[in-house]
Amino acid sequence: MSTTSNTEALKARAERVLAGGVLHHLTAIPGHRPEVFLRGKGSRLWNSDGKEFIDYYLGSASLVLGHAHPEVTDAVRQQLENGTHFFEITPAAIELAELVVDAVPSAERLKYAMSGTEAVTAAVRVARAHTKKTRILKFEGAYHGSHDWLLWGYRHRHGINYPFAQPDSPGIPRELQSMVLIAPYNHPEAFKALVEQYKDELAAVLVEPLLGNVKPKPGFLEMVRGATKEHGIPLIFDEVVTGFRLSYGGAQKHYGVVPDMTALGKSLGGGHPIGALVGRADLMEAFSPARVADGTAVLHVGTYSGNPVSCTAGAATLKVLKRPGTYERLHATAQRLGDGLREISARHGLPTFVVNEGPMVDIWFTDKAINAYPDTWSADGQFAKRFRLGLMERGIWAPPGLKMFLSLAHSDEDVARTLEAADASMRDLKSRT
Ligand code: PMP
Repeated sequence: MSTTSNTEALKARAERVLAGGVLHHLTAIPGHRPEVFLRGKGSRLWNSDGKEFIDYYLGSASLVLGHAHPEVTDAVRQQLENGTHFFEITPAAIELAELVVDAVPSAERLKYAMSGTEAVTAAVRVARAHTKKTRILKFEGAYHGSHDWLLWGYRHRHGINYPFAQPDSPGIPRELQSMVLIAPYNHPEAFKALVEQYKDELAAVLVEPLLGNVKPKPGFLEMVRGATKEHGIPLIFDEVVTGFRLSYGGAQKHYGVVPDMTALGKSLGGGHPIGALVGRADLMEAFSPARVADGTAVLHVGTYSGNPVSCTAGAATLKVLKRPGTYERLHATAQRLGDGLREISARHGLPTFVVNEGPMVDIWFTDKAINAYPDTWSADGQFAKRFRLGLMERGIWAPPGLKMFLSLAHSDEDVARTLEAADASMRDLKSRT
């Protein structure tokens, strides 16, 4: 059984060998030592002190069935016995691709990758090869992965001079700036004006249809689709988060707007590493070996792409998700959480904007609506952080600054316990202000 002292020992070892003593800066809270998790089952996580959490981060939104789902675990165990990697087609790779092509409206063909980042960068390369143009238009506040091409206009804290932004990280060459155009989200006029101005230079428009926690205004995605189609600009949806989460067919099914290519990841692998690019057959033809000889094939190789363990986990996950009633249940549980947070904050006299779209919930402490990334700057980030820390003390794993995700394993009782913790955390904060 774990003890506090072995927790301290684990953390000290981590400090000595892991960069910054953490796996990711995202969940690192300044002044707080990182958690060490030992076990996950269903909606629950246990840390090295044996403390139990209801998990609302779910491996960065990758566990839509919850932890260690028995059908996924059994399927993976069988695949492990038969070998873990061949760098060739396997029945698992075919089955998962069939399920995806069947489910996702824009998917006629699929190319595997190992992460969402890789899938998005592959999409950008195909679009550039197809159009023979270079510039990519993306939206302000959108994260599309860790690549140099994409970390622009994502986390600035002040207004930018559209359509250009600064790189979001040191180490990204400034020379790339002119390649990445940034448009404000949910602003049809600004988007149309940029497309009009740059239409002859755009290789693609890249959009996360539910941009982080900002919902598309009615008609916005349709307008983006219409304008890109009119000018022959490939439209790429980044559905790394929303794929198999908002609905079985992803955001494109949920909102009824079909792009030319879609990047998938996270839920697709049922908690195992994966990414995939799907799209129109004519665009995906770019990967055909028949085009290698004349030099027109798009290069995209990954040692672990199409890994049979990840594909097996993904296929087992999708088969569960495909069952009737799954998404109704996921949406209803999240709705209950969102409604509860609205009710509790109103009762405490705290103005909030609670975003609640499918199995994703977020809460902003603000009296304004959040319709675009700059709207988030006026929200009270310090209060939000203390609220989340209050949840975490009470056994709710919902780190500050991150959306809360629900899985099929979350029960009504989990939500009720979470709302009690939210009530107590808000009461506590109110009493201290
Ligand atoms: N796109 C979006 C919208 C994401 O949220 C993420 C990851 N959080 C990515 C792409 C990158 O995926 P990965 O971390 O698997 O590279």
